[in-house]
Amino acid sequence: MSDAMFDVIVVGGGNAALCAALSAREHDASVLVLERAPEEQRGGNSAYTGGGFRMVHDGVETVRSVVPDLTEGEIANTDFGEYTVEQYLDDLGRVTQWHCNPDLAETLVRQSTQTVQWLHKQGVRFLPRFGRYAFKHEGKFKFFGGTVVEAAGGGRGLVQAEYAAVKRQQVEVRYGARVTSLLRGKEGVRGVRVDFAGVEEEITARAVVLAAGGFEANREWRTRYLGPGWDMAKVRGTRYNTGDGIRMALDIGAQAYGHWSGCHSVSWERYAPDFGELDRPITASRNGYPFSIMVNAEGKRFVDEGADFRNYTYAKYGRIVLEQPGGFAWHVFDSQVDHLLHDEYRSKGTTKVQADTLEELVARMEDVNPPEFLRTVREYNASIKRDVPFNPNVKDGRCTQGLAIDKSNWAVPLEKPPFSAYAVTCGITFTFGGLKIDMEGRVLDIADQPIAGLHAAGELVGGLFYFNYPGSSGLMAGSVFGRIAGRTAAGHALAISSARV
Ligand SMILES: Cc1cc2nc3c(=O)[nH]c(=O)nc-3n(C[C@H](O)[C@H](O)[C@H](O)COP(=O)(O)OP(=O)(O)OC[C@H]3O[C@@H](n4cnc5c(N)ncnc54)[C@H](O)[C@@H]3O)c2cc1C
Repeated sequence: MSDAMFDVIVVGGGNAALCAALSAREHDASVLVLERAPEEQRGGNSAYTGGGFRMVHDGVETVRSVVPDLTEGEIANTDFGEYTVEQYLDDLGRVTQWHCNPDLAETLVRQSTQTVQWLHKQGVRFLPRFGRYAFKHEGKFKFFGGTVVEAAGGGRGLVQAEYAAVKRQQVEVRYGARVTSLLRGKEGVRGVRVDFAGVEEEITARAVVLAAGGFEANREWRTRYLGPGWDMAKVRGTRYNTGDGIRMALDIGAQAYGHWSGCHSVSWERYAPDFGELDRPITASRNGYPFSIMVNAEGKRFVDEGADFRNYTYAKYGRIVLEQPGGFAWHVFDSQVDHLLHDEYRSKGTTKVQADTLEELVARMEDVNPPEFLRTVREYNASIKRDVPFNPNVKDGRCTQGLAIDKSNWAVPLEKPPFSAYAVTCGITFTFGGLKIDMEGRVLDIADQPIAGLHAAGELVGGLFYFNYPGSSGLMAGSVFGRIAGRTAAGHALAISSARV
């Protein structure tokens, strides 16, 4: 091993990988990052994100520690609330039906704030997350749902800042580098085999960190592990996450862990392209459904649109849309809530119909049964508890009563034209199944023993998310576990190296 070319090789070029690279470098390791995508498409799913981070915070003081230029006006007009360790753990437990690994959850939650502060020190700029996680109500923004900051410039801004930091730290990055397998010697993993445009190379290292994302962009694996119909889902992000990192670790005895038939998937523009578009990454999102009714081809509602804030339901509703006849649905809105719909509802490529009567509207809603739709709306309008005031910033309890599927909050009758409807299908974000790691970021085998020299972080780690996901925990998890994996990999590499001297 004394002839290893690098201390640490990081496989992948998204947020988890770059955090691992920065952390390994901070602990004195020489680091090579191998990114499968070409440079102009670098950054994985992380580059497609809105850049939101879910961290523990106590309100203004924590926010100010990562947004030092927060203005007095912003402070005066904003209720940031607080988000405690207990609330975060409770959210993770509740939405994953208490399947999430408690050690992973504790680590994520307890290291969240310090990791965002660490990223800030690495040069990532943060902003308060106005707009998406706080609506202005009676002159004041009030945050709901635990996410108060986002990287400036969204996912692209985040990844750009991380690549700039990596460059400052003299980490070498190679693009178009598809890692295909791991090299293993007597002392454990000792490098990787890489395909550079059809030319194979072996690159040696004392430790490897896998951060190559999940398998959401692999149509065959989706169908195999998520089930029938998943071949038809749209991929919201990068085309390069095809499960390579998971496969190469399983090939050398790593343990498969977490919710392999589960994934994060959302309502997404019905006619969106097969993969995400980096220059307009979230324009196909359709997250205003808590203020809508969602109907299927039969003209029927099929889910409680207002069960919770959208960031506690959006990641599991994509699957439910996919399960509807034809794998699509429509979000239908009254004009009273138009102002609550984000810009993506007005973006190019949106399948939208609008009309002054419900009869005209449904005639324009492709593939929907008109009489059933009109009956659904009649029954819905008649069942709303109208004496409860509507408030988008709290779970307002303005519900329906007596329907087969009631709406729990934000029930607005469809009675003030123009009415609008948007066609959606299922967009897959990332997969939940992956590898098992310990709290040092080491990949474990089936006997729960670390595989020497192999570390992992990000979407390819299983055990944190099951069935659902609290919005903005993906970047946070990638950062926390990337930082840990980088530090452990550096420690492992330098221990081998000094043992040799
Ligand atoms: C549209 C969208 C919006 C989102 N918004 C948010 C948000 O606001 N907040 C949040 O927390 N999460 C969000 N997410 C989820 C978030 O993207 C992920 O949780 C997070 O980015 C995962 O980071 P990662 O580094 O594990 O994976 P990625 O960022 O996907 O990185 C994986 C990397 O591995 C590379 N790779 C794959 N195979 C190989 C190989 N064989 N060899 C070398 N490299 C390889 C890929 O090219 C890529 O660079 C969003 C996702 C999408 C798609």
